[in-house]
Amino acid sequence: MKQDKIIKFLAYDNRISVICADTTNLVEKARKIHDLSPVVTAAFGRMLTMTVIMAAEMKNNKDKITVQIKGNGPAGVMLATANSMVKVKGYVANPIVDIPLNEDGKLDVGTAVGHEGYINVIKDIGLKEPYIGISPLISGEIAEDFANYFVNSEQRDSAVALGVLVDKNGVKSSGGYLINPMPDATEEDLMNIEQSIFKAGAISKMLDQELTLQEIAQKITGDENVKIIEDKIIPEFECDCSKEHFKEALMTIGKEDLETIIKEDEKAELTCHFCNKKYDFSKEELENILKEIKTKLK
Ligand SMILES: [Zn+2]
Repeated sequence: MKQDKIIKFLAYDNRISVICADTTNLVEKARKIHDLSPVVTAAFGRMLTMTVIMAAEMKNNKDKITVQIKGNGPAGVMLATANSMVKVKGYVANPIVDIPLNEDGKLDVGTAVGHEGYINVIKDIGLKEPYIGISPLISGEIAEDFANYFVNSEQRDSAVALGVLVDKNGVKSSGGYLINPMPDATEEDLMNIEQSIFKAGAISKMLDQELTLQEIAQKITGDENVKIIEDKIIPEFECDCSKEHFKEALMTIGKEDLETIIKEDEKAELTCHFCNKKYDFSKEELENILKEIKTKLK
């Protein structure tokens, strides 16, 4: 299987920045972990793809980005969070939504997500306060919602495309791109790009036809001489949870509640929302945690 990848390019003599992503494997992994229905796979896959593209823009090791989409559709809240190593994790409130295809015969992402609601982006980039941007949903189709977010919240004009191709075996292809003009971009550059994007067609189709990200960058910009700036970014769906992490969570629920769990259940099974991994705590382990809490309280 081909490896997922994000590549940064510059086109038109450095006047246009382009980030292209192939996220086929990571979206398939998310689909399997969360047992997502096809339309939710497409919706969440598009959001995960944009999240890793934005994570690839971050500069420092400890930077983090969290994206939340809260639409009024049946999928409910979707959340994704990624670090600067471009490891992403996330979940959807309702993983299984089964609705008819739209009038074009495609998965109806807009209806699953909802046509009203908002995108909320939190960037923790080492400043005192995290950056928070909120923007209303336009259609729930995700790509245009993000394009609108970039204009509204980050004051940057962008071309955004996100696509996930799903068949009965799972994710066939998934990817996206983000195009941003630099301050010296010309009207002609922008017109060329607009026409090239139109001609190029859907990103998921180009990936399915096994075009490389460089070929895709050439197609969507109309510039044969796109320059690769960075090509060693490998996005992955990966959770960083651990038993230690859940032990800390248990320590915060309070002495009385923990005593009740020990008395009534004699064990605890905790599930990570992000990756559905289960962590079992035996009676003995719970009693040790209780002891630790008591020592701390002294
Ligand atoms: Zn996890």
